[in-house]
Amino acid sequence: MPSALAGRMLGMEKTMIRRINDLADPSCFNLGLGELQFPTPKAILDHVRENLDSWRLGYSPNEGFPELRKLIAEQSGESVSPEQVCVTVGAEEALLDVLMVLVEPGDEVLIPDPGFPAYASLVRLAGGGPKPYPLCPGDDFAFRAERVMGLITDKTKAVIINSPNNPTGSVHSPKELLALAGRLNSLPLTVISDEVYRDIVFGEPAASVAGLAERCVTVNSLSKSHSMAGWRIGWCVAPPDIAKAVRTFHQLAVMCVPSLSQYAAIHALRGFADEEKRSNLEELRKRRDFAMACVDRYTGLPYVAPAGAFYLFVDVSGRLARFDNSLDAALKLLAAEKVVTIPGSAFGRVGEGCLRLSFAPAPDILEEGIKRIGRFFRG
Ligand code: PMP
Repeated sequence: MPSALAGRMLGMEKTMIRRINDLADPSCFNLGLGELQFPTPKAILDHVRENLDSWRLGYSPNEGFPELRKLIAEQSGESVSPEQVCVTVGAEEALLDVLMVLVEPGDEVLIPDPGFPAYASLVRLAGGGPKPYPLCPGDDFAFRAERVMGLITDKTKAVIINSPNNPTGSVHSPKELLALAGRLNSLPLTVISDEVYRDIVFGEPAASVAGLAERCVTVNSLSKSHSMAGWRIGWCVAPPDIAKAVRTFHQLAVMCVPSLSQYAAIHALRGFADEEKRSNLEELRKRRDFAMACVDRYTGLPYVAPAGAFYLFVDVSGRLARFDNSLDAALKLLAAEKVVTIPGSAFGRVGEGCLRLSFAPAPDILEEGIKRIGRFFRG
């Protein structure tokens, strides 16, 4: 029987990250998940408990409560108005909305390689073609505006950038972002800046392209910054014409983000969880340093110290002789040692030869997981 599915779903599957995690059981040492392990900040939970009975939990305005959009606008720059903000079901919905309103069949969207796997699928879902630009391992996965510019054609509709980057943890330099904006401002295309890891940096604050590029949409969420992934609070900030279209698409797709989550988000953006945010970041810094020490000690595998996010992108290319590729190695590592990692190929062609290890888990999981990785690759 011919498939009942629309052509846009052909070849579309769950991302490799999810498929590998689906194979894992609770006894595994899971270094695969892209989620912090800290609980929702206590200040947020207390606020929700205290006010639950008095809040009206009906539909909110489609684009989000005015108070929440005002806070997001204020924190996004002096000239940003709440009309430019749409509150979405995580950054993931914001990315989908933006691509759906911008991309037409035949359009190309430049995406980072290695980069967050959903970019390519979302671009395809919107009818466009994803075109990867490299973040080169030989260059410490640094973002180079020149490598993006070299790929732009008259079909290019948008460029997605992600700093700090998932999976490499690299933070884009202000100089390269300025160079990119300078070159793009004369072209009819939109920069989509995915900033979900912007608050998770271990050195200098991460610069944003937002104030530099004229046509720029920023996408963000509370999933990583406030360890609130399950509350599904994200947003995009866009030029007025794009914001209006996003609001319409968002209304058709989800109506509005759950009101309860929005009340929690207002409290978070008013700063009531900032103390916990700071201590979580300190703990994450310790876990990063500990994970790097464990990789050095137990595996000797090379990696680039991540400046942000919570992943180590470890180079296993020198140990792949007995495997087909990084996916094969990750699956065998899971079967033999019960350690979940994500193969670099999940993030694009340039990522092949690496494994992504999350350092969000507790130190005992990190240490045992990495010890087992060392044993596996020695074996
Ligand atoms: N962008 C990047 C780069 C991510 O890593 C993730 C989640 N892992 C998202 C977007 C989606 O985040 P959320 O929908 O939870 O806000």
